[in-house]
Amino acid sequence: MNLLLFTPEDCPEPGIIRLDGRRFRHVVEVHRAGVGESLRVGELGGFTGTGTVSALSTDGIEIRYALDQPPPAKLPLTLLLSLPRPKMLKRILQSVAALGVERLVLMNSYRVEKSFWASPWLEPAAMRAELLLGLEQARDTVLPDVQLEPLFKPFVEDRLPVLCAERRLLVAHPVAAHACPVALNGPAVLAIGPEGGFIPYEVDKLVAAGFDAVHLGPRILRVETAVTALVARLFT
Ligand code: SAM
Repeated sequence: MNLLLFTPEDCPEPGIIRLDGRRFRHVVEVHRAGVGESLRVGELGGFTGTGTVSALSTDGIEIRYALDQPPPAKLPLTLLLSLPRPKMLKRILQSVAALGVERLVLMNSYRVEKSFWASPWLEPAAMRAELLLGLEQARDTVLPDVQLEPLFKPFVEDRLPVLCAERRLLVAHPVAAHACPVALNGPAVLAIGPEGGFIPYEVDKLVAAGFDAVHLGPRILRVETAVTALVARLFT
């Protein structure tokens, strides 16, 4: 945790945070912060700044804070991700938040196992908990938008065009003819397939919607590695 994220519910009065639970234990056990010590804090959706531990007991911690810095800018990136298996989803949600992805669309595709859509990890509270861990890691305060699209065709035909306006559109596909661009650094939509890859119909649908199919070289990466490698390549 490189940033202690808090919400107004953690503040009994303006300028004071009171915590118990996971964040309290982390501050005490990992940061080993004592009374008078400082740590980075940030209000969810708001500014970051400095907190000073003003009281500490076995049950909780009180921190006085002042906020003066905006969070880091988001990447102008919408990530279309075929729904990964639940364990991988948890890690990817953390990475997506830490990397600064602006919007994540978890979509269906033919090789996504149907049972994944019934996972408790797709509950809003469960996804939010993973996203918060990513924000804490990267000292960000702003949650990415997350959208679930359990039907591929109506999503691509009806709702995707709105997300694509004025953006570079890329679908990562290992057998694509062209290499993924480097340092795009502009508004983009990037589609990444499931563990078994996109089927040709899906790549064709995305290409018909204006996407360029691109590869990342001859190594086939796991989905979570591909997410990080592609985002790092597009935004430097
Ligand atoms: N056998 C599958 C295939 O050929 O598509 C492998 C899928 S890979 C494990 C999962 C997803 O990560 C792919 O659908 C693609 O979006 C992305 N990916 C992984 N390695 C890639 C590469 N070298 N080039 C482009 N995309 C890649």
